[in-house]
Amino acid sequence: MRIAKRAVLTAPGSPVEIWEGPVPTPAGGDVVVSVEMAGVCGTDHHYTLGEVAFPGPMVLGHEGIGRVEELGPDVNTDYAGEPIAPGDLVYWVPLKPCHRCHACTVLEDVSLCPHLSPGRFKDPLTPPIATYTEYASLPAGLSFFRVPEDTPPEAVIAFGCAMPTMLHAMERLGGISFGQRVVVQGCGPVGLAAVMLARLAGAGDIVVVGGPALRLEMAKRLGATETVDLAAAPDAESRIAAVLDATRGRGADVVIEATGRVEAFAEGLSMTARGGRYLIVGLWSAPGSSELTPRIVNNANLRIIGSALSRPRHLHQAVEVARHYHHRLPLAEVVSHRFPLDQAQQALDAVGRQETIKAVIVPGHQ
Ligand SMILES: [Zn+2]
Ligand SMILES: [Zn+2]
Repeated sequence: MRIAKRAVLTAPGSPVEIWEGPVPTPAGGDVVVSVEMAGVCGTDHHYTLGEVAFPGPMVLGHEGIGRVEELGPDVNTDYAGEPIAPGDLVYWVPLKPCHRCHACTVLEDVSLCPHLSPGRFKDPLTPPIATYTEYASLPAGLSFFRVPEDTPPEAVIAFGCAMPTMLHAMERLGGISFGQRVVVQGCGPVGLAAVMLARLAGAGDIVVVGGPALRLEMAKRLGATETVDLAAAPDAESRIAAVLDATRGRGADVVIEATGRVEAFAEGLSMTARGGRYLIVGLWSAPGSSELTPRIVNNANLRIIGSALSRPRHLHQAVEVARHYHHRLPLAEVVSHRFPLDQAQQALDAVGRQETIKAVIVPGHQ
């Protein structure tokens, strides 16, 4: 039986601790993966601050890429039917739908399953389904997808859960038409994924509102045509004016909220053109509420679309996007910081200070 180190949040506000525990031989449809990189997500940082409901001591991390260490006796393919063997690189996000609820079977929308994260919140001494660990234990029913050897792991983990989240959101949006004007609020991994997918979809102007400068620079390399730096436009009025200026006074056909800050909602709605669509993605874990004037939504024929989490097909699509575009776009360079497992707290702090474009934890990193 393997023993694996794992990074455990024992309580919000406490430094992350490194615990050790067993990872049993996989049974049935289970798989044990040696973690190569775990993405550090803004959500992990929100957990450490107590801004997301704390379920009790937990292994952190929900973005993983690693090599198959051992397959359960029933496993010979990934969840798209591709043959899989020990040593293969795989990508997963530890969301495991129950397939026995209204969302899973009646709506056929597993992203709404209320039982999505059971293993993630277990006692940290049980085999971790989470990713801040040397070995993750993927239970039967948890989708994972093979990453081809010609695709750098950084190109996939660069966006972590953000790329499948945005692929799901783009699907719910109903796509972007050629030449449409797009505004992206925020340029963390979710915002950067939005920029890239808008560019690949054929958008016209893509204006990014965010910061700091290194993220805005990456946004330009991924397809943004114009950036509005929060440092230069610190108040909502100046940002709205900058966006109206950049969109010839009309506003954007599509505004994508990727900030996670509740103040962004009213601001984004003011940037939306008549007949436009406002896509809310980043506010998944943001506390607070915002006033809305329903008449504006009515009079301007606006559509407000929410989208949370992702479905297994979006993880598969995320691998395909990385595979086909990593040559042309600097996907792998989005990974700006690497930390060993025992510096998980430093990684979270760096993400909290927005020093990173994307930080990853490399459990084998010395
Ligand atoms: Zn995430
Ligand atoms: Zn369910």
